[in-house]
Amino acid sequence: MIAASSEQLRTADGVVLEVFHLDSGVPGPTVTLLAGIHGNEVAGIVALAQFAREGLPLIAGRVRLLPVAHPAAHAANLRVSPVDGLNLARVFPGAADGQPTEQLAAAIADRLITGADVLIDLHTSSPDTDMPFFAGCLDDGSPGCDLAVALCEAFGAGTVWTHPANGIGRTVSTAQELGIPALYVESPRGGVLTAETLGDYRDGVLRILAHLDMVDDAPEGRATTLRLHGNGDVDRAASTPRAGFFVTQRTLLDDVAAGEVIGRVIDSDGSDAFVCTAPAGGVITVLRTQAIVSPGDVLFELGTRRA
Ligand SMILES: [Zn+2]
Repeated sequence: MIAASSEQLRTADGVVLEVFHLDSGVPGPTVTLLAGIHGNEVAGIVALAQFAREGLPLIAGRVRLLPVAHPAAHAANLRVSPVDGLNLARVFPGAADGQPTEQLAAAIADRLITGADVLIDLHTSSPDTDMPFFAGCLDDGSPGCDLAVALCEAFGAGTVWTHPANGIGRTVSTAQELGIPALYVESPRGGVLTAETLGDYRDGVLRILAHLDMVDDAPEGRATTLRLHGNGDVDRAASTPRAGFFVTQRTLLDDVAAGEVIGRVIDSDGSDAFVCTAPAGGVITVLRTQAIVSPGDVLFELGTRRA
């Protein structure tokens, strides 16, 4: 077992990031693992904290662990910064002299993503909105995409979501600019952490390291039974124009046809305030779970099965 050594990275404002390095001493890839980019997404945070404490059975290469990428958001149990209101997953590559959240992005981009051979960014869904358990990555035909897709499959979530482009300001966008294969993970029931989910994250990371020949073996994962391709597309999503209570009549990963009712927003007087229908056929990949909604809240998004 290779033990971790810790290092403290400091931003210009003096915020400390606790990083852990594990070095097998044998040539091989450098893998950077991030969690807590959104401070309230706990599965990856706990998995990486356990690896930092227990070590990893590395036989080659090096691993960089950052369990809590956004300490202020994590301390406040928030998705975004309680200091400047920014979403760390939208400000990469950041700015060393920028807002506090931009400073964090710059430190992570410069010290942890730069120089890595693979980036893995562990997220979960938010407590108010579900996403399935999946690994996702860019697949635009550029070099490195084949490896990223293979690592998504190796993670063993059962669902792989590939994208023709990365969104602006993501960790994976910075990796793309640096030519580093990158993937991210999402899972349902944000804010809830079961032993099974924690095990899924830990074992998935070990399967990626095994695929890279950095550990000898890893527990068997799920075979991929669903492959999605596309971007989170506003034409295939709906937000509510009205406040009320969202009553969903479908579940995550349901196939829906154009025009099918996904749910209704009910007014406090019991009347239908908004009937939420699918604008196109697809697979429900994002679904609001919290009933109380305000105008603008996303109710669902649809994904497309990979041809
Ligand atoms: Zn997230």
